[in-house]
Amino acid sequence: MLKCSLCVHDERTARIDIVDGKPLCRECQVYLRHPIDGKAVRRELEELMEKVDRAIVAYSGGKDSVVALYLSKEVYKVPELEAVMIDHGLMAKEAIENAERIAEHLGVPFTILRYDYSDIFRNALLKAQSPCRACSKRTMEKLRKYALRKGYPYIITGHELPFGHHPYRLMSGGVTQVRLLSMMSEGERFEILRKLPFEFPELPGYTTNCLVLGPALQLYWDKHGHSFEQRRIAALVRYGLMSRERAEKELERPEVPEWQWNLVRKKLGVDTP
Ligand SMILES: [Zn+2]
Repeated sequence: MLKCSLCVHDERTARIDIVDGKPLCRECQVYLRHPIDGKAVRRELEELMEKVDRAIVAYSGGKDSVVALYLSKEVYKVPELEAVMIDHGLMAKEAIENAERIAEHLGVPFTILRYDYSDIFRNALLKAQSPCRACSKRTMEKLRKYALRKGYPYIITGHELPFGHHPYRLMSGGVTQVRLLSMMSEGERFEILRKLPFEFPELPGYTTNCLVLGPALQLYWDKHGHSFEQRRIAALVRYGLMSRERAEKELERPEVPEWQWNLVRKKLGVDTP
């Protein structure tokens, strides 16, 4: 089986051609023709952050949102900040504990808004699909409404920049989403986490906060023979933000412990698998 020489795609997940004697996936070929200028993206981010005076941080208690909160407070020194967690009903308790502990450590006001995303999660598990896109879309919409209600012009998120060229996005109503971790490597994130009272939860899948991701990944893996995170993680490797070794580990079939399956099944009222 051909493997892309630049990222972690292979023939199961992408079209691969031989270019100048090397296997390269289509996404890498496009990237090599139109590479992202990481320095320019970071410069754009710096300029934008200088203007940010009032913002909420989309705060899931996962490692990336914790890094985003740290940068907003300690590096960019945003004068008015609020860390807002949207609890979708299946957050790991360790994530909520991390969120509370770190917001307190950094002295940032912390708000939890609780919702029930069972419909999204049940649908994803029954169809062996990824719940992430629907979940993140709903969460961003809830944060946008919260920001508008409280008069915040910015929502800072711990997103990277896997696709697209700008570290921000204009949302309706005049709110701007800032992807604060655009072009930031895994190594840089870990360096920041080491300075904070962050405790890594033991969760299957590439997550430090969500109890549904592991089960959804496992079902998807058993149906398709690879992870639904392949495309996003391949992009991180392509841009040099994650090592191939780490990526390959993240893309393995997760082994979800029985307690987690039971909790998820009970909450969603499904008996998959
Ligand atoms: Zn590739």
